[in-house]
Amino acid sequence: MTPATFTPPAILSAPLRMLVDGQWIQARDGQTQSVIDPSTGADIATESLGGAHEVDLAVKAARRAFESGPWPRMRPAERSRLLHRLADLVERHADELALLEVLNTGKPLMVARQFEVAAAIECLRYHAGWATKLNGETRQVSLPGEWHTYTLREPVGVVGLIVPWNVPLPMAVSKLAPALAAGCTAILKPAELTPLTALRLGELVLEAGFPPGVVNIVTGLGPVAGQALVEHPGVDKVSFTGSTAVGKSLLTAAAGNLKRVSLELGGKSPVFIFPDADLARAIPSAARGIFANSGQVCAAGSRLFVHKRVADQVIAGIAEAASRLKVGPGLVAGMEMGPLISERQRQRVLSYVASGLAEGARVVAGGEAAAGEGFFMQPTVLVDTTPAMRPVREEIFGPVLCTQVFGDDSLEQLAARGNDTDYGLSASIWTRDLQTAHRMARGLRAGNVRVNAPVALDFAMPFGGYKQSGWGRENGREGVEAYTELKSVAVCLD
Ligand code: NAD
Repeated sequence: MTPATFTPPAILSAPLRMLVDGQWIQARDGQTQSVIDPSTGADIATESLGGAHEVDLAVKAARRAFESGPWPRMRPAERSRLLHRLADLVERHADELALLEVLNTGKPLMVARQFEVAAAIECLRYHAGWATKLNGETRQVSLPGEWHTYTLREPVGVVGLIVPWNVPLPMAVSKLAPALAAGCTAILKPAELTPLTALRLGELVLEAGFPPGVVNIVTGLGPVAGQALVEHPGVDKVSFTGSTAVGKSLLTAAAGNLKRVSLELGGKSPVFIFPDADLARAIPSAARGIFANSGQVCAAGSRLFVHKRVADQVIAGIAEAASRLKVGPGLVAGMEMGPLISERQRQRVLSYVASGLAEGARVVAGGEAAAGEGFFMQPTVLVDTTPAMRPVREEIFGPVLCTQVFGDDSLEQLAARGNDTDYGLSASIWTRDLQTAHRMARGLRAGNVRVNAPVALDFAMPFGGYKQSGWGRENGREGVEAYTELKSVAVCLD
């Protein structure tokens, strides 16, 4: 496999720095770590590891920008224009951003360019529109006398944005764009494994002309820089995407000043294939739903429930899709699945497969690490899994599908099987029967339900989880309003 030749993006030619108050800085104590290409294990850059000091500088800069800078007072149309300018710059540098993402995650170049960078651009443009559309409303009150009463939407203030490594650029943008549209100032903390596109985005933020301190980017370890950001009394809100375990731990850290907290956490999403489904679409979609991005997707369809009449055909079809999938470095033309993000993550995923086998499951596709350098793993399908097994209960965040067969269960019983999880992020239903589709959609306790469709995200549709998949929603009006406070104003006219 020969990777395409490429010119290394300029950002890789020097140690990476952090963006604070419009300036690029190194960590005061000089701490750094290597940034790794997971498809080779090679060092590709050196990242500065910020800590409490750098977080404090960034929060103070964001606070100044919020309290006395132009950003929250700027005309909404001007904020919108700046977001559009940033979208245009991301579009102009889309190939470079896609290349950085591939170098840092190993995912296929086509996916990075046509889906992820494209999604980041779309996200900026969608939210640019909201800057001019955040309104309060008048209310009819029944107080004695004459009143003029209304509500105001105001920016919540300084926000800390903490993101994971699976889709680094869309994650960073999906938090920054609504926060900026609402008039907040921000400190973004990228995942320590994947800082590259966030830092390049920071350069584009400056080029677009955002005032200093509006966007700050502090790289560093979660328990150090991330924790300092969540604990900081100068931060009004934290929006976190990551694991449920870390999400829970943030609640205590955020309690000091009772900051607002939004959480986008893990999932263990069910996929139901009924016997009347269009299998020609359902089978490849179920395969894509678990193997896309090497299964490192919060909404991955990781628990398949398939009716016994079509189970053999569906499982054989997904297993065949798994064995045909081209697994390799994202810069090699034609690759469809890249590596896992780290050796640690690969070992974690393999341990779930081993645990399933020990508990009585069987492998019908994959099941092992893929040969060669890098952190590749075979796309894997487990059968004979039961609800009590570890790989069925816990989020694996890897390319492992757990299948269960159903027969004469009622729709209520089936929904209960789907809901038998701590999570509630997403679910898919494949059927041609309207009643089945709608009754299942109602019965499933998940924030995002799809019928006869693969994972389909649109910035107009709220995204987020029930139960331990999170608090709050991103996207749509709700996603922008999450970065606002609501004020009631009552004016007595007597
Ligand atoms: P993680 O929780 O380990 O880390 C996420 C981010 O939190 C990183 O930036 C990390 O540095 C930071 N962090 C870690 N410990 C911290 C602490 N103590 N204080 C503050 N910040 C801390 O998650 P991950 O392994 O990077 O990502 C995978 C997880 O993210 C999976 O569980 C996945 O389901 C979830 N995820 C959810 C969504 C969603 O929208 N619901 C989207 C993508 C990923």
